[in-house]
Amino acid sequence: MGTLPKGPSPVPTFDLPAADGHWFAPGRVNLIGEHTDYNDGFVLPFALPLGIRVAARLRDDDRVTFASTSEADGAHLTLADLGGPVPDTFPGWYAYPAGVLWALRQQDLPLRGLDLVFDSNLPVGAGLSSSAAICCATVAAVADLCELDLAPMQRAQTARQAENDYVGAPTGFMDQAASTLCTAGHALLLDCRDLGTEQVPLDLPAADLELLVLDTRTPHSLVDSAYAERRRSCEQAAAALGVPALRDITDVTALAALTDQPDGDLLLRRARHVVTENARVLAVADLLRAGRVAEIAPALDASHASMRDDFEITVPTVDLAVETARSAGALGARMTGGGFGGCIIALCPTGSAEPIARQIAAAFATNGFGAPEWFTAEPAAGAHRLDNDSAS
Ligand code: ADP
Ligand code: MG
Repeated sequence: MGTLPKGPSPVPTFDLPAADGHWFAPGRVNLIGEHTDYNDGFVLPFALPLGIRVAARLRDDDRVTFASTSEADGAHLTLADLGGPVPDTFPGWYAYPAGVLWALRQQDLPLRGLDLVFDSNLPVGAGLSSSAAICCATVAAVADLCELDLAPMQRAQTARQAENDYVGAPTGFMDQAASTLCTAGHALLLDCRDLGTEQVPLDLPAADLELLVLDTRTPHSLVDSAYAERRRSCEQAAAALGVPALRDITDVTALAALTDQPDGDLLLRRARHVVTENARVLAVADLLRAGRVAEIAPALDASHASMRDDFEITVPTVDLAVETARSAGALGARMTGGGFGGCIIALCPTGSAEPIARQIAAAFATNGFGAPEWFTAEPAAGAHRLDNDSAS
């Protein structure tokens, strides 16, 4: 197939005349459970009210066209193109929705020509999973319009296949699962080994709390190589310990055996993050089931310390944001997402998220860092079709 051809014209607005419908898939924050997904462990994300909308329309031919309000270039391909090899080079942002069509075609599902126009109110590339949202929104639209009988888990797996095998982003399963399977008022406990899920209640207002999501807006340049390096260390540690994945270690004292390895101290710290983080996810889920939301704060703090000291995936802006959140009155705070920048979350008494965010912005200015952006979030619904009112 080679690279996809560029489309004819920029699309300045979210507008598709005579659209057959509109669909939405959310971004997510991960409450806790970082770098545990590819270790067969546990994660606890929830869906944001922010995400990606897509307007979609069936065509009479076998063409699929892609446009986005945040990108100048659109693109198109034909359904026949999707039977060819995966392009060697990253063909542009439309690799995400094209990858979804490709993944559906790999499953021999009957596709039809479509026009797709995307619009986002989610910061892109901020660790809030706009990439999974664009894929999951595409799955939702295509499944409905082509009348594909796809269970929610299969939708999420299709989105993952698009990101992993077509775009070439080696993500775990958390983002696509969250964007598809989350429900309002709940965090999603996902067991990344057997893909078991549980909707865990998370009612912040009832606990007189709000959750601050603050984007440090740190450009993260080393992410890909550092992510691959962390994954390798985890695999090495599991192999040295004779287990299929670090999820199988529940007692940190078992990690002492790693010190005999070359780079043993490093492997021990990397593995210790994963083992203790899995335990924290399960402890937080227990507290949430019991409605003891404020009591999760120490686990958020411990998760951050573990990412900073053992897994070494935080950066100065992120650490400053977390420290300032705490000193300004947050009950607990941590980086969320893959690391090296991106967002932090802070659990705040109701009414304090805004002043806490302002203190972080002031601390950033004092330290010569760029201005952060923030919002508060409550758990929202996963991918769904929008009715006509909410689409406009
Ligand atoms: P994150 O998933 O944390 O936002 P990623 O780097 O994984 O960060 O994905 C961001 C990429 O997703 C963008 O660079 C772009 O290619 C694609 N993307 C997301 N949303 C849109 C959109 N509305 N229009 C076009 N491309 C998008
Ligand atoms: Mg992503």
